[in-house]
Amino acid sequence: MTFKALLVEKDEEGKTHASVKDLEDNQLPDGNVTVSVDYSTLNYKDGLCVGPGGGLVKTYPHVPGIDFAGTVDESSDQWYKPGDKVVLTGWRVGEVWWGGYAQKACVKGEWLVPLPDGLTMRDAMAIGTAGFTAMLAVMALEDHGLKPENGPVLVTGAAGGVGSVATAILSKLGYEVAAVTGRESTWEYLKALGASTIVPRDDVNETVKRPLEAETWAGCIDAVGGPMLARVLGQMKYGASVAAVGLAGGANLPATVIPFLLRGVNLLGIDSVMKPYDDRVRAWNRLATDLPLDKLHDMIHPATLSDLPQLGADILKGQVKGRVVVDVN
Ligand code: NDP
Repeated sequence: MTFKALLVEKDEEGKTHASVKDLEDNQLPDGNVTVSVDYSTLNYKDGLCVGPGGGLVKTYPHVPGIDFAGTVDESSDQWYKPGDKVVLTGWRVGEVWWGGYAQKACVKGEWLVPLPDGLTMRDAMAIGTAGFTAMLAVMALEDHGLKPENGPVLVTGAAGGVGSVATAILSKLGYEVAAVTGRESTWEYLKALGASTIVPRDDVNETVKRPLEAETWAGCIDAVGGPMLARVLGQMKYGASVAAVGLAGGANLPATVIPFLLRGVNLLGIDSVMKPYDDRVRAWNRLATDLPLDKLHDMIHPATLSDLPQLGADILKGQVKGRVVVDVN
């Protein structure tokens, strides 16, 4: 039996090339659950893995795709049987293990979660790692005392995948959302997702000049890192928390410790990849209830496997808006 997949190969000069190929079932990795994939999606990491690898891909040829949703074909795992609808995010699938940019995937059962009630497979991939991570960030802020009455919440990289879903969730939960974006063309889109204020990227992108600025934000979901995260730390209200999710603007943190010492600001790390099963299920169930589906659907750009080489390059340049949903069939 053959199936289609986006295969990334490396040439003799070390350059990678991605193209849609027919693969044999016996080329699949050795997992205990085989899934017929319906949809996948595109995250920043996928851009790296479709392209030069970013140090994430260890062996070639490789099938990227860090997320997928599909139906179990075969299983020797005690929790899954043929016909079950499942979702996978994280666990380095699509990086060191073949991923979801294919009509078939073979993975370990412990990496899967059941498709949550109330979501279709397409919805689940419109959410994907980006949306799942946005929910983890919201939950972390709530666990550290964030409530709508505390004041406005800042979302950085707002028009990207994590930022778009974070904006929609926070707005549905009753928060006043301030959205940082570098693209004026996304202002209407962000307002439609529920942002009440747009903060131009340049207003918060400069390096820290004063370690403390006016106490402005009751919380922050940061997809950007770098100088922007450093700057935002000094703008947080007393005792407020920042959920650090991403590094779209850089991995360095040119900050001072003053906001931690004088304002009790918390910097919360968010990891979606190795998140334990119970927390995953809790986050997916929250997504099924707290993410407005009409807004999710407005974020979607449909795509196919053959669109991915271009889309992968686009997301690395910060040019993708919202969420790409890939129909692999
Ligand atoms: P996207 O590319 O969809 O979104 C990133 C957004 O950041 C862009 O849309 C842009 O938003 C903004 N941005 C891009 N470049 C810069 C820059 N140089 N300076 C400031 N802002 C910039 O990616 P995702 O939403 O999928 O992921 C966002 C980040 O989160 C990535 O770094 C990713 O690796 C990380 N991530 C981490 C996870 C975890 O488990 N911790 C899981 C998922 C993602 P705008 O145009 O609105 O300014």
